[in-house]
Amino acid sequence: MGFERPRTIPQQIAVTHSAVSFVLLIQAHALGGVDAYKCITPDVLDSQVERLVVTLYESTVLDMAMEVGPGIPRRCPCGAATVVLTSKTKDNPGRRFYRCGVVFGENHVFKWADDAVLEEIEALAVKQSVMENELIEIKEQLLDIKKILRRLFRWLRHFLPNFEISVSYV
Ligand SMILES: [Zn+2]
Repeated sequence: MGFERPRTIPQQIAVTHSAVSFVLLIQAHALGGVDAYKCITPDVLDSQVERLVVTLYESTVLDMAMEVGPGIPRRCPCGAATVVLTSKTKDNPGRRFYRCGVVFGENHVFKWADDAVLEEIEALAVKQSVMENELIEIKEQLLDIKKILRRLFRWLRHFLPNFEISVSYV
């Protein structure tokens, strides 16, 4: 059995183009349906590769930058892990601080450790109260489920007296 490729369909010239075409076809399908496929031609691939790289960069590196919120900074917006060091300046002798493990400068993390720890404790207190509320909700839902199960077992014992069932928790 032979398989012949139609010559009218443009062929990929680089391996990476296949991957990019694949992503673009998924995107075209999601956004524009079958008609949008026609826009994915070999001549748009290079510019689309650049656009994809920028999109990927923005969605990873820039998102990480936004994640540096309150609390102990574990990572710098640049992606590097932070380090804890001790200040030797006249103004803050012996004061500990977090900073980017790679670059010391603008757009890289710097935070005094005492500030960071205070923020971390505050953030943990908020998280804890959220979890406590969730636990209360779960307990209430569990009680409801137990009620339903009790009713169901009563019904089963009534209509199926020979049906053996032993569930200790209801
Ligand atoms: Zn950094």
